[in-house]
Amino acid sequence: MEQSFCRKWSCVFCCRKPLPGLLLVIVALGGAVLAGAWTPASGSEREAGKLLPAGGTGTAPSSPVQPDYILLDEVQAAFSLDLEVDPVTRVHRLRSGLMEVSLCPGMAHILVDQTLQRLPMPVLCVDGKTLVPGELARLMRGRMAPAKPSVPTLPRPQAFAPEPRIQRVVVIDAGHGGKDPGAISSRGLQEKEVTLGVVERLGRMLEARGHRVILTRSRDHYLTLKERVELCQREQPDLFVSIHINSSPNRSAAGFETYFSAARLVLGADGDSAPKMGDLDRRLGDACARLSKEDREFLYSLTFAEFQAEGERLARAIQASLSSSLSARLDRGVKPGRWYVVRWSQAPAVLVELGFLSHAATESQMKTDAYREQLAQALLRGIESYF
Ligand SMILES: [Zn+2]
Repeated sequence: MEQSFCRKWSCVFCCRKPLPGLLLVIVALGGAVLAGAWTPASGSEREAGKLLPAGGTGTAPSSPVQPDYILLDEVQAAFSLDLEVDPVTRVHRLRSGLMEVSLCPGMAHILVDQTLQRLPMPVLCVDGKTLVPGELARLMRGRMAPAKPSVPTLPRPQAFAPEPRIQRVVVIDAGHGGKDPGAISSRGLQEKEVTLGVVERLGRMLEARGHRVILTRSRDHYLTLKERVELCQREQPDLFVSIHINSSPNRSAAGFETYFSAARLVLGADGDSAPKMGDLDRRLGDACARLSKEDREFLYSLTFAEFQAEGERLARAIQASLSSSLSARLDRGVKPGRWYVVRWSQAPAVLVELGFLSHAATESQMKTDAYREQLAQALLRGIESYF
């Protein structure tokens, strides 16, 4: 049951699938709120790379030490918590009274007393063991009292290292197409042609690296935005990248920018355009059948929050690569946006505007195979650095 569940939920660590997916395990940790009573490691241990460096919740490690994890079992033992595990959903619940924390293997978001917080790394599920980032211990230390003063022993860093991720599933979306040309330059170059030229090259490059690539379109074909999102929903990729070319009445506007979604998602709030509970149920599969509507909505909000956070990380990786490959001077930055395909794709998703067709020099470059190749290679490097 666990194996089929993990496959269904794309658990990267249990089933060697590539990215944090939808395997949702909820851990509720309860305990008396007595700050500072449990210290997970000494300073020397931390310096030796056995725990995460200092930093608040949601911050990345501040030094390049190998990130470490603690067995959930040991956290449970240290605080004498009750543990429940749902055999279908793999939901873990640890309780001892005053506090609840929700965690999801493959996900970095946690729910602490109904407040969503983010760990620097996702929770892992390896060899049947649930591992939590050491950062969680730091967070817990400030909120909970230990039932016994022992320091949990830590797994050796190598012992629980996930296997190398071999192949990713990537959906690449060439903006516009068919009856929708997108932007058109004063000399007649159409956005839909440039986006397809870049996407075809990027797709071949990713395939050559062993990734599975799905193009929303591979020819001059019209697709609605909803159809693009639905394709993403069917394929359940590790990431979704939509490629566009900008245009502006200001002919001097130039440069590239990458968008991620930061919109607060409310199911059904956008009328027909928003995912329906039924769509999301299909993604979660049988595992959600036993859950209440309230529980499902909670899982969906966690899922989308994770996609958004990962989308921002992907956007930064791509933008950095474009900046180093093209010109830092043309770097217009990473921005939150409400683009439909980014907002509703059920994957870490970004929309990249590669330049301005209204900018004469850029338009001349965009006509050439060499520049399209250069753009594709920059995107490839950005995507691979995200992986
Ligand atoms: Zn466009």
